[in-house]
Amino acid sequence: MAKPQHCVVIGAGVAGLGAAVRLAEAGVRVTLLERRGQFGGRTHSIDVPQVDDVADNGVHVISGAFTELFDYLEMTGSRDLLTQPDKYARRVMPDGVVDKRTPGKLFVWFPGIGMVERLKMWRAYLRMTRDAIWRKESLDDISTEQWLDRVGLPRITRDTWVDFLIIGALNEKPELASARAFRDLLAIMVTRGRDAQKNGSLLYSSTDFTSLFVTGAEKVLANHGCEIRSKATVRKIVIRDGAVAGVTLTGGEFIDADAVVCAVPPWNVGGLLDDVPERDRLYDVARELVPAPLVSTYLWLDKPLDMPVAIDALVGGEGVIEQVFDRQRMVGYDGSERGLYSYSTMVSAAYDLDSLHTNQEILEVTMDFLRKYYPAARDAELVHGQVVRMKKATYSQRPGSAGIRPAQRTSVRGLALAGDWTQTDFPSTIGGAAQSAERAVGVLLG
Ligand SMILES: Cc1cc2nc3c(=O)[nH]c(=O)nc-3n(C[C@H](O)[C@H](O)[C@H](O)COP(=O)(O)OP(=O)(O)OC[C@H]3O[C@@H](n4cnc5c(N)ncnc54)[C@H](O)[C@@H]3O)c2cc1C
Repeated sequence: MAKPQHCVVIGAGVAGLGAAVRLAEAGVRVTLLERRGQFGGRTHSIDVPQVDDVADNGVHVISGAFTELFDYLEMTGSRDLLTQPDKYARRVMPDGVVDKRTPGKLFVWFPGIGMVERLKMWRAYLRMTRDAIWRKESLDDISTEQWLDRVGLPRITRDTWVDFLIIGALNEKPELASARAFRDLLAIMVTRGRDAQKNGSLLYSSTDFTSLFVTGAEKVLANHGCEIRSKATVRKIVIRDGAVAGVTLTGGEFIDADAVVCAVPPWNVGGLLDDVPERDRLYDVARELVPAPLVSTYLWLDKPLDMPVAIDALVGGEGVIEQVFDRQRMVGYDGSERGLYSYSTMVSAAYDLDSLHTNQEILEVTMDFLRKYYPAARDAELVHGQVVRMKKATYSQRPGSAGIRPAQRTSVRGLALAGDWTQTDFPSTIGGAAQSAERAVGVLLG
């Protein structure tokens, strides 16, 4: 396909921003349209005027294997805003007791278990590696729990760190998550091991998400004379004679274009693809990829928790894990100067927490939890607390979901799909969103 003259990118999350920047750098005129008043999609910042701070919609952990995300951050001049945790992650038990069997050591050695269990663990790892390399079976019809039962991974290994990995990486419980989604994740971590080593195995943002993901992209797009519009909701992608003709906005405005990247989540595609021949299949897929929630809190306390590292993994709470993030260490919040110390917590696959509790209850549960695990929190007061419920944080990666993700290429000339739900090497993550952008642009630029 010849290079498009004018491409409309729908949606300004990581996928849409990534596609817009790549197209602009390739010399294509781009119009980026976002329905919200703010850019960033599921990675956006939140002003907290009560404590004169800027929080985000939930801390994100970034894998060093997210090569396309690192490319995007390089292009937008934001790569240096990522930091590697000093240690990832402590596994903290009640009363602040630290479990020495931390994930880094577990995969290789796993201190503290008997020889029989250790042999079983190694045999199971070998079976998992075999499944990941040969991919003889789809594994999309069983849960990760069933897969781990089948390969015989001992319960102690799961309780200590494998369940943590599944829930954290897939935002789904082991009994609900597709074995294929987890297997594919393990496979890409191995095949991209070198990238991960180069970039740092796990990283996080040292600033707010607007500064990390949006500000640099806005500059690049402005330098290329591209148009960026917020509060611009696309109603339909208009197709004539099998090719993109433009988009119609909800107010009736028509923008003509010879290419479109549709970078909206599955729950927002309804209506947009009505002119696309394969719309029924795409709408069916979008309906099947049901959302999974994540609940985060941002806390401002009058005393520090005395965390010696940036990130702690705790066992308990509603799910299998809770993560606690020290914002003094992560984003340089000047706690001691302000006399106010800031932390964030996260519960993945938080179905019950989200549906059964008010924000006030969530703050109380979280504070009780911190008091149980951190002796320093016992007499700490919550000065301000913010609950962020992301009911549609990711799509739920249940059995059947991995095999139905749509390709970026469509049957329509000039139309590509992007977003974390399209076919990538990753589960529903920013790494997947960034890779989908690269692939969508590849489709349009031939
Ligand atoms: C709390 C939380 C924690 C997470 N943790 C991690 C993590 O640790 N690591 C990780 O890799 N991933 C994590 N994720 C997942 C990650 O954030 C998402 O996978 C990724 O941001 C999705 O990006 P996207 O561009 O595909 O979609 P989105 O970010 O959803 O962007 C789509 C955009 O399209 C816009 N839009 C929709 N419809 C229209 C329309 N008709 N017209 C115009 N615009 C429209 C939306 O408003 C939105 O801005 C987390 C997500 C959440 C919510």
